[in-house]
Amino acid sequence: KTSKIEDFKSVLNPAQWDAVTTMEGPLLVVAGAGTGKTRVIEYRCLYMIENGILPEQILLLTFTRKAAREMLGRASLHDPRCRKIEGGTFHSFAYRLIRQYKSVLGLGDIISFLDEADSADLLHLLAAKAGFLEDKSRFPKKDTLRAVLSMSTNRNQPIRDVLAKDYPHFVPLSAPLEELRKMYTQFKLERNLIDYDDMLIYLKFLLENTAINEKAAAHFRYVMVDEFQDTNKIQADIVYSLGARHNNCMAVGDDTQSIYSFRGAYYKNMFEFPKRFPDTKIIKLEYNYRSTQPILDVANAVIEGEKQKYSKVLFTTQPGDEKPTLSYFKDAFSEAEWVAHKIKEYRDEGVPLGSLGVLYRSNYLSLPVQLALSKLNIPFAVFGGMKFIETAHVKDVMAFLKAHHNPKDEISIARILMLLDGIGPRTAERVKEIILGADTQRLEADLALVVKSAEARRELLKLAELFRLLPGIETIEKKIKKVIQFYTPILKKKFDDYPARQEDLEAFVEISSGYTSLEQFLVDFVTIEPPERSVLEAEGKKEDERPVTLSTVHSAKGLEWEVVFVIALVDGSIPVSYALDDEEAIEEERRLLYVAVTRARKYLHFSLHNEGRNGGMSSFNRLSRFVSEPRVLEKIRTDYAWYEDEGFALDQTGTRRMDKDELYRKLTDYFEMDNGKDYF
Ligand code: ATP
Ligand code: MG
Repeated sequence: KTSKIEDFKSVLNPAQWDAVTTMEGPLLVVAGAGTGKTRVIEYRCLYMIENGILPEQILLLTFTRKAAREMLGRASLHDPRCRKIEGGTFHSFAYRLIRQYKSVLGLGDIISFLDEADSADLLHLLAAKAGFLEDKSRFPKKDTLRAVLSMSTNRNQPIRDVLAKDYPHFVPLSAPLEELRKMYTQFKLERNLIDYDDMLIYLKFLLENTAINEKAAAHFRYVMVDEFQDTNKIQADIVYSLGARHNNCMAVGDDTQSIYSFRGAYYKNMFEFPKRFPDTKIIKLEYNYRSTQPILDVANAVIEGEKQKYSKVLFTTQPGDEKPTLSYFKDAFSEAEWVAHKIKEYRDEGVPLGSLGVLYRSNYLSLPVQLALSKLNIPFAVFGGMKFIETAHVKDVMAFLKAHHNPKDEISIARILMLLDGIGPRTAERVKEIILGADTQRLEADLALVVKSAEARRELLKLAELFRLLPGIETIEKKIKKVIQFYTPILKKKFDDYPARQEDLEAFVEISSGYTSLEQFLVDFVTIEPPERSVLEAEGKKEDERPVTLSTVHSAKGLEWEVVFVIALVDGSIPVSYALDDEEAIEEERRLLYVAVTRARKYLHFSLHNEGRNGGMSSFNRLSRFVSEPRVLEKIRTDYAWYEDEGFALDQTGTRRMDKDELYRKLTDYFEMDNGKDYF
């Protein structure tokens, strides 16, 4: 046994060893990215077991179930008993305790759990019952209702404040929403229903019960939490309760990496911990094992401007010969193509695809890379992402294009018709032919025969007009713009979160500009490998058997790759545009970039493209404000006449952007031309 313990010592530095061997009492490991925090937990589990502590007595709480599985999986390679450690998320732990102690909570014998979709449906039902939906267009949709209530619970904030921050246009509805929450709570209680957020609250309640608290403390004598900076207040209270009797709580985290405040995470939990456990031993780890020094230089430069932090600078002795690079491209398309080719180069040099990661702020940004990789037949998995091409709004727009491309595509036509007000499946069936028929003369008369509602007829005429226009429009980009113009009012009616979806559609337009054939465009989209399947295939495989990873920065937490690409590094993306008028939100964006940078082991590539969403010649994208230290980067390539990044690049926050038409009008005015066309 002792020999095993000696083995551990040789793969840990003195500070890590100190943390691993401090078994009793409160312990806080505060350390930057890649300093081996997660490794400390792994070896601490092992060390405890080698010292006679039973695996059942250890509780390990992680951010995802997968994280716990992987940590305990690695530990059990050394000692199979580690498999028996209780490991999982706060929710999975809550689930177990609630089932066991439901009677203590006053719940009946048969309880059931609501998933997020169930909660949303239920809220919708109750809102209808209460008469809130009489004017549907003015009331939040069901997913929004769920999100608002959940945020209010997790942030421990009144509904009004949540609305003011995230949905200001719904603030006047604060009172009815409070009302709705009461109905919802009552409804759930009467039927023993428990939703996702209730689980945490119930766990907290349970642990406040003296008898249960005693039992839990006697059973779980050692509690460890990874990624403590991203716990919310309820979760931190749960940890404090669990440790109240024996004090054997260990939290591990990095306040510089807190990136989930939008979900109610409270990074100040890191600073509260020593207050809640007065004798906390604090251990800092400073040596970074993950990345080379040039990468850490970039990470340090990104975080330098941050205000509140445990002062820490990352360092390593791994020299690394390559400075991280920064590349500019003309558009999203050429950027993605470059990334894909670079990935191919790495692969050809023998780097396994699983050692390559592409990170981005928002899901839609990954689409061009998905396309470019598909073209080169390079397998990839998408983490933490919705499937862009399977989202309702993208499917809607695709339906227009498909119907235009192939008027016999009945499925697409039906989808479009169902988007219009006042048209049900039966009418849709009848008018399909009429809409796409060649006979425009008789259109109105024909419609009058089958469609009673005047409003529906107006909508149908507009649609027919759209399909009449599309063939005459030259470029695919312009066709899509036209479709989106038609679709936007529908989008706004259909989705409360339409601004984010609009961004997706703008990305769509941007991508289309790289195509000259509509058919090719449609084919490329349909042939993207379904990300869902590829994620399943990637899970549980070793790095050299995995495909390339595409991931949002949020979902890349705690992970690492040999080579990391961070794409679309522009102001408006990181920091994301909706954070720009909120100082705290901007700081969170800064930490997000820090997380992205510190995922890289050896090579890091930043890239960005010009030609903003508005597509106009006057819209320049500006390099992210967080990358202000060009010294630490190597500018490697420019395929576009780019203005110097520093110097005359002014802050464009809040600047209204012109499009070409407007510029054209301005010019014609300026030159006092009656018909400017003669000049151009
Ligand atoms: P993050 O903040 O990103 O979650 P972390 O602090 O949890 O990072 P780990 O993931 O535990 O860091 O470790 C980062 C990398 O360094 C891993 O590849 C790990 O195996 C390696 N590592 C950690 N400690 C040591 C050590 N003492 N000797 C060698 N390699 C180490
Ligand atoms: Mg970690």
